[in-house]
Amino acid sequence: RRDVGRINVGSEAFNELIGGGIETQSITEVFGEFGSGKSQISHELAVTVQLPEENGGIDGECVFIDTENTFRPERVEQIAAGFEMDPEETLQKIHIARAFNSSHQMLMADKVNELIQNGTNIRLVIVDSLMAHFRAEYVGRESLATRQQKLNQHLHALQNIANTYNVAVFVTNQVQARPDAFFGSPTKAIGGHVLGHASTYRIWLKKGLAGKRIARLVDSPHLPEGECVFKIVTEGIVD
Ligand code: ADP
Repeated sequence: RRDVGRINVGSEAFNELIGGGIETQSITEVFGEFGSGKSQISHELAVTVQLPEENGGIDGECVFIDTENTFRPERVEQIAAGFEMDPEETLQKIHIARAFNSSHQMLMADKVNELIQNGTNIRLVIVDSLMAHFRAEYVGRESLATRQQKLNQHLHALQNIANTYNVAVFVTNQVQARPDAFFGSPTKAIGGHVLGHASTYRIWLKKGLAGKRIARLVDSPHLPEGECVFKIVTEGIVD
């Protein structure tokens, strides 16, 4: 493996939990209830990937595949200001791709290859949310197999980008309150077989007391399970 890059999540405790940041050449999935902080972390990473290495970034640009219209430029500006980065410049390095349905979403992922081949220094691909379109379009038991097949195809395309170009892939997944009652993880098929390569991280986000959030690492190729507490503030994700 070429040198794995790591992208700062903003909170030191969170970084520590995942071995120093979100890894390139891997897919990292955060899952949790509505409002647990999935989109906030997505915005944070879209900014921190641009930082120089000594500040926890990898000097890269980012593709943000937005499936539910959750991308907020104003939020990027706030987070960028917290790092004393120029808000306009920061926004220019975030390439927004609005995906109207699941096949459009898959097409957007393929387009990332072209963008990189044309010389754009993409080091992070965010899909927020990975599952929303697939869930809405493939309803009922009879379409589950097709949904899983399409999803596998999508994830393979993303993993392929991650490996080929040393890129980090970050996907969000909205689930019910208790993940142990949930069998729909995109990166882990029913029966526990992890899709594709072993390099998939899964992080469960929970709401804690007094506005705090808890991140629990539930699946990683070589890190222990564990959890940490973090906060969402105007400047983004912090301890
Ligand atoms: P989801 O998991 O559904 O993607 P979000 O990432 O959108 O959830 O998290 C929304 C929560 O983030 C809000 O309920 C709020 O607690 C927090 N939040 C969003 N913007 C800010 C901000 N500017 N300052 C502080 N907290 C914020």
